[in-house]
Amino acid sequence: MVEVEWSRMKAQELRALAEQNAVVILPIASIEQHGPHLPTMTDTRLGQEVAVRAARKAYDRRPTVVAPVVWSGLSEHHMPFGGTLTISHATFRALIRDLIQTLIRLGFRDILVSNSHGGNIIAMQQILDELAPELDATLVGTTYPMEVADAFADLLEDQTMVGHACEAETSMMLACEPDLVDTSDLASLTNDMAGGVRFLKAGKASYRWRPFPHMTANGVAGAPEKASLEKGEAMLEASAVGLADMIADPETWVAPSDMRGEGIAGVPFRT
Ligand SMILES: [Zn+2]
Repeated sequence: MVEVEWSRMKAQELRALAEQNAVVILPIASIEQHGPHLPTMTDTRLGQEVAVRAARKAYDRRPTVVAPVVWSGLSEHHMPFGGTLTISHATFRALIRDLIQTLIRLGFRDILVSNSHGGNIIAMQQILDELAPELDATLVGTTYPMEVADAFADLLEDQTMVGHACEAETSMMLACEPDLVDTSDLASLTNDMAGGVRFLKAGKASYRWRPFPHMTANGVAGAPEKASLEKGEAMLEASAVGLADMIADPETWVAPSDMRGEGIAGVPFRT
């Protein structure tokens, strides 16, 4: 099986990948509470698994390498449950910026930031908005459960999407790390996700930050009792296929169109 993990490779192998214009996946995740039954590394472990599987699937169409997971994410909302490590927005932004700039200095030009933690979504997009106009590289950001939302909706029984420490995450962890999942009393952990619909909302369509205990007593949002290893394997596979297809699609990386007309065409906007 082709090696796709940056940290397992030697410098000359990574220089060769840069020369081949390989895609780099930079996974970003979290270490945070995942209910009484899942380990704190859940988002980090799943982000790693999805990225490595996707890189292997894409490789024949487009060489791809997976950087080590940035486990330090934005998890302030989980702090009340303990077991959670979090960093500030400023630190997160500086960290992602520095790593992307390093990848570009090494010769990589197509970078996929692959996020596996809900709390990072808004910041990831902000960081890419800030960096894209000023860097000589194409930056794409994805949160895999959103990229393959249709497949997840088909596979899940009680949920329509990923919650937290839920049917989806518990299933995928059963497929990756079965020894770390406490399955002794999953039925007692299930929470109705409906209460979470307004977790980060105010008014009809406005935003309000809230801590996670606003929507759950035990740190779980969803139905871990519906989890199964087979379902988890199918979800990981669907995620890998979705990301691999996006990586291999030239449209993902093609330069933006420039539809400016007579008089302004050719005026530089990236200096
Ligand atoms: Zn999670």
